[in-house]
Amino acid sequence: MELESILLPGVDPKRPLIIAGPCSAETEEQVMETARQLHANGVQIYRAGIWKPRTKPGGFEGIGAVGLPWLQRVKKELGMYISTEVATAAHVRAALAADVDILWIGARTTANPFAVQEIADALEGTDIPVLIKNPVNPDLDLWIGAIERVYNAGVRKIGAIHRGFSSYDKKIYRNLPQWHIPIELHRQMPDLPILCDPSHIGGKRELVAPLCQQAMDLNFDGLIIETHVNPEKAWSDAPQQVTPAVLDFILNAIVIRDTTQTTENLTGLRRQIDDLDNDLLELLAKRMRVSREIGMYKKEHNMPILQEHRYDEILQKRIAQAVDMGMKAEFMKTLLVAIHEESVRHQMEIMKE
Ligand code: PEP
Ligand code: MN
Repeated sequence: MELESILLPGVDPKRPLIIAGPCSAETEEQVMETARQLHANGVQIYRAGIWKPRTKPGGFEGIGAVGLPWLQRVKKELGMYISTEVATAAHVRAALAADVDILWIGARTTANPFAVQEIADALEGTDIPVLIKNPVNPDLDLWIGAIERVYNAGVRKIGAIHRGFSSYDKKIYRNLPQWHIPIELHRQMPDLPILCDPSHIGGKRELVAPLCQQAMDLNFDGLIIETHVNPEKAWSDAPQQVTPAVLDFILNAIVIRDTTQTTENLTGLRRQIDDLDNDLLELLAKRMRVSREIGMYKKEHNMPILQEHRYDEILQKRIAQAVDMGMKAEFMKTLLVAIHEESVRHQMEIMKE
């Protein structure tokens, strides 16, 4: 992929790129006042949802196209760039006609290839930057598929937004960060800028600052943060929005790691990691060989592969040991289950022979 920078003329190139503004445009006053305060704090790119895909009917589904002139006022009076979410071809056409500068595709839309294709078709021939949120489900290929659809329509200014993944368990996060997924996206597409959306990951304002810091520690390129002049009274996503003043405080407090530092002093440690990984692989291969021998014994004696009691015993014993050694129980369980699965696969091969 040959991507072009999503930085529009005059936008501060230093990390992180900041996009801020309310979840939804509600009234002209709310849009203007939020923008004024953000602009006074140096924010250059404004966000506001005009069309809102809501989980349940009856919620506020966005002010609709009547809000577009409010965004245009932000652009004209304050000189900010304006951005909004598009979910259909009609939204794309209306946003382009209103001179919106940056579009984003929301998580519910990314999950639907037909909708993404419709949007991509409507984007053909434009060179507007398009940011693509991850799909609601943790499916990296679906995310990449949406990026490819937009790219194939000729759009070159593409970025990704990590907004977390839906789960039934909402104890801490509204959407689980599952950081390994955007990290893998970056590995596969190193030139694609990735922004983090701490507001939709956290779902509560207290989590915005720590999530911003985590995103910076993981080298994300930018942050898109829901900001509202009166968050408690917001018509959508009230619990997660922060005031422009709080946003300013957060942005001044986060520590931006120096990405220009060379990693030479890490060479020794990295070599150790490489050696250890090598040892781990050798050990695993050895374990599989022993497991195959057990498989042969079971076959000769007409025994079943699965010996539940033994499996439970291994799991319990090793998980407790791992916890004692400072690792998480869930981590060790995942690892042991995966190793066991591979062992069973080897033994099944033996049985078939
Ligand atoms: C939003 O940005 O307001 C939004 C609806 O986000 P998401 O698509 O991530 O749910
Ligand atoms: Mn929102």
